[in-house]
Amino acid sequence: MTNSKKELLNKFRDRGLSLYFHFPFCKSKCSYCDFYSLTGKADLKSEYIKALIAELDLSGRRFSSLYPEPSTIYFGGGTPSLFNPANFNLIIEKVKSNFGLKLDPEITLEINPADINSFEELKEFKQAGINRFSLGVQSLNDEELKLLDRRHDSKQAREVIKFLHELGVNFSVDLISSLPGQKSFDYLTSLKELVKYRPNHFSIYNLQLEEGTELFRAVANGELPEISEDVDAINYKNTERILKSAGYDHYEISSFALPGYQSAHNSSYWRFIPYLGLGPGAHSFIELNRIENLKDLDSYIKLNSKNQEAEHQIDELIIKELRSEFMFLGLRMEQGILKKEFYDLFGQKVDVFYGDKINKLEDKGLIKSTDRVIKLTDQGKLFANQVFLAFID
Ligand code: SF4
Repeated sequence: MTNSKKELLNKFRDRGLSLYFHFPFCKSKCSYCDFYSLTGKADLKSEYIKALIAELDLSGRRFSSLYPEPSTIYFGGGTPSLFNPANFNLIIEKVKSNFGLKLDPEITLEINPADINSFEELKEFKQAGINRFSLGVQSLNDEELKLLDRRHDSKQAREVIKFLHELGVNFSVDLISSLPGQKSFDYLTSLKELVKYRPNHFSIYNLQLEEGTELFRAVANGELPEISEDVDAINYKNTERILKSAGYDHYEISSFALPGYQSAHNSSYWRFIPYLGLGPGAHSFIELNRIENLKDLDSYIKLNSKNQEAEHQIDELIIKELRSEFMFLGLRMEQGILKKEFYDLFGQKVDVFYGDKINKLEDKGLIKSTDRVIKLTDQGKLFANQVFLAFID
């Protein structure tokens, strides 16, 4: 018998909680970016922190008895590194007073190389409670950084990596591959140099041209060449080869980690652990609902400062959608989907729902299914989106 929604809810409540805080502030807009972030709003920063705390207090009252002691906190954006370290310390303390915090939590801050001008500045973030940094390097080629409209150059990125090493702290770097017109050689040159700096973790994304961005417009108008799928595939294979031989574990489609340094926060999304996102535009998955906070900084501040709930949209997921998400999120990870975990959550074997699809994808060589797990094959990793789509009903 399949588990009822109530049984499923209780099982999800036992899976833990992660917290995400969104900082939708940027000094300038990058040419590829479609995240919710605004420029020219620096005067609202202190009001924003108050509003975030108000939303945190409200969430604590509502959820802390069901989801106590989150194990990860992630400060992302936008550009959280535009904020003072004391702000993060305040939020961490408020998390503790509202929810408690697991022992040895992972607390990540995204930093833009342009914002860290000295070792001392970085140290203050660590003293505020940050124990993991995610550095938005994107490329070590200055021409490419200009194309992306990043605020930093490669020299600044190298300098901040030096500070991170001096501080002896866990850090990840973000890198973008397959820019329009980019030669594989140039992408791999950035990657190989970064490998020498031994970050604990790499997040590497193929550039996605999002409508409404400057790069999308330039490619659509023929000012820049289309991104070639062949180059994508070459980059993907070379990235995996280089990072694996340097000791990195390819634990998720876009993520590579030295042993012991997988991102606990990001893994919670793929492992289908409930999370709360705070701030305008942030997403949550909690109580079997998907929630998206309204992308409106001004109304977010206004409502939270009056202790009124900021506007959001709730989608109550039906069991069929939950099963399907479990499948395509789990397939992102190298460990794949554990059949026993599927059975424990949903009360039936995975083959009962997806047997035909699994057989067809196996026949195409895109996944491998054993008694214990279902995983993407090497070929499947190249066509991952096609596989994920197969599990969306
Ligand atoms: S810094 Fe990040 S959030 Fe801000 S515009 Fe650039 S990519 Fe977007």
